[in-house]
Order: sequence, then structure tokens, then C-alpha cells
Amino acid sequence: MTHLDSLPPLRDSLTEHGLLANKSFGQHFLLDLNITRKIARLAGPLEGETVIEVGPGPGGLTRALIEAGARVIAVEKDARFLPLLGELADAADGQLTLVEADALKVNEAALAGGPGHVVSNLPYNVGTPLLIKWLTGPWRPISMTLMFQKEVADRIAASVNDDAYGRLAVICQALCQAKVVMDLPARAFTPPPKVASAVVRLDPLADPPSTAEIAALEKVTAAAFGQRRKMLRSSLKTLGGEALCLKAGIDPNVRAETVPVEGFLALARAL
Ligand code: SAM
Repeated sequence: MTHLDSLPPLRDSLTEHGLLANKSFGQHFLLDLNITRKIARLAGPLEGETVIEVGPGPGGLTRALIEAGARVIAVEKDARFLPLLGELADAADGQLTLVEADALKVNEAALAGGPGHVVSNLPYNVGTPLLIKWLTGPWRPISMTLMFQKEVADRIAASVNDDAYGRLAVICQALCQAKVVMDLPARAFTPPPKVASAVVRLDPLADPPSTAEIAALEKVTAAAFGQRRKMLRSSLKTLGGEALCLKAGIDPNVRAETVPVEGFLALARAL
């Protein structure tokens, strides 16, 4: 049992602690608990699960994750928020551990002490590097439920032939099932960012490609989408061009945006 009900509304907590958003930390807060509870549901079920949350800020999403029964390890780089978050930790009866650190540098395996999920309203300036860290790093999350700029969310979940289909879609979908599960307008945040946002849920595949295959996939997709209007036999020239395509069973006369994820995996294996 937690005592979250005794906490003041998020907006009052921010005022009490004299906290204003700092743009250089990508701070756009979700102060409506109906929204953060919905994100926790989209990440769930979380009862008894370990969750790493990057950037708790004022703690709106953190509250929802605790309510959902998760054991939360919250990594916040902006030390100004720690006193406010300390009050939340006191009310959470052991369900919340606070870590003051840069999420790009933390060792998730050591923090989580085992398997866990990642749920975060990500700071936009480090969203993609963090995603790549969790996709390819030694600690593989059980699931990731992440808020991105809408444009980035679309690039993660795009299908072949979509305008947004590119390197990020291929690499994410070679490793995970990826789906946009919620759209949010800019006005849902305080202060509102310039662009709309969306939540993506990523569920790692049970039998992912090896590290070597992913390294090859990164090379092939960089070359193919670096010149996305060219045919593969030309864009992949330095990697073997037509011969590589034929070895992989892929038509050398097609362009990158028409090749599905499995096609790129075949090219990576051929490489
Ligand atoms: N979770 C809160 C919410 O939904 O209201 C805040 C989200 S805000 C978009 C991003 C948060 O990430 C901020 O609290 C910011 O200070 C924090 N942050 C920014 N860069 C970070 C980093 N490298 N490591 C950890 N936290 C970071």
C-alpha cells in the first residue's frame, strides 16, 4: 500500500519547490495524471515488475507507474527535482529508488539487478541515442514504452514503402515489434513543445539477430538509405552491389524504401 493520495497535485508540487522547466534538459512535463495513468496501462501489466524510468522530472509518470504496482528506478539528471521526488519516494513505501545520473551513462543491469522494463517520457535531445543503447546494449529490456516526438515515433514504427521508412525502422524492427500506441498533441505538455508527440511500445523479439548481424545491418542500411533514391546495386556498390543483392536473393534494381526488414537482414547475412 502506498500513500500517494496524500501528495499535492503535480502543479502545486512544482510551485512549492520553485521549479521551472529548463529547455536544455528537454523538459516538457505531463501534469495530467489521467494521461500518465494511460501510459502506464499501455506499458503494463506492471504489478511486481521492475521499471527503469528515465527523466521522472516532477514525477507524474512515476506516480502512475507506482500506482500500477511497479518497482521503479527513476534516473534523473537534473538535481533540482530530487527533493520533490524524495517526497514521492517517501510516499511510495519502498517502490521508488531515485538515481541522480545521466541515463546515457548508467549501467541498467546494475540498477535493475535483473530483468526490467523501460517506461519514459524521453527528453527529446537524447531519445534516439537512448533507444539505440537499449536496443543494442548488453541489458535488454523486457519491453519499452517511450514517448518521442511524433516524427521520430513514426520513423521507428514505419512500414516498408512509408515515407518515414528508413534505417531507424529497419534496425528497431529487426530487434523488436514496434507500434505507435498513443498520440499526444503539444498542448498536453507543460510547457508545450513545438511539435506533437507519440508513445511507441517496443517488445523485443524472442530470437533476435546476433550482434554481428546487427553490425552488418547498420552498414547495409546506412549505405542503402544514404542514397535512398538509387537502386541497391548502385547504393550498395562499396559493399558488393549487385553480387551482394543476388547472394541475398534481393532484386538489385529496387530502391531501399521498397525492401522489407527481412530483405535487409538477408543482405546483412550475405555481407
Ligand atoms: N517524466 C516527466 C514527465 O513526464 O512530466 C518529465 C519528462 S521531460 C520530457 C524529460 C526529463 O528527462 C526531464 O526531467 C529532464 O530533466 C530529464 N533528463 C534530460 N536529460 C536526461 C539524461 N541524459 N538523463 C536522465 N534524465 C534526463
